[in-house]
Amino acid sequence: MKVKVDQKRCKQCELCAVNCPKEAISFTETFNEFGYRTTQIENDKCIACGMCYIMCPDGVYEVLG
Ligand code: SF4
Ligand code: SF4
Repeated sequence: MKVKVDQKRCKQCELCAVNCPKEAISFTETFNEFGYRTTQIENDKCIACGMCYIMCPDGVYEVLG
């Protein structure tokens, strides 16, 4: 796992998915406690660039490297 995800913070704005250079982020059919879809990261595609961390306005991501 290269990126840790705090799903309960997500508001499904999609900024992370749109800006990920490897298209590694997608939305699942599962909803968090506030009714927003949770995100999932394809570990094989992720290069730990930190763009999702930079773009997310709600502090969902922590890049572990
Ligand atoms: S660290 Fe970079 S490559 Fe990995 S999911 Fe985030 S934006 Fe995409
Ligand atoms: S940028 Fe943050 S709040 Fe927006 S969809 Fe991605 S994880 Fe959710």
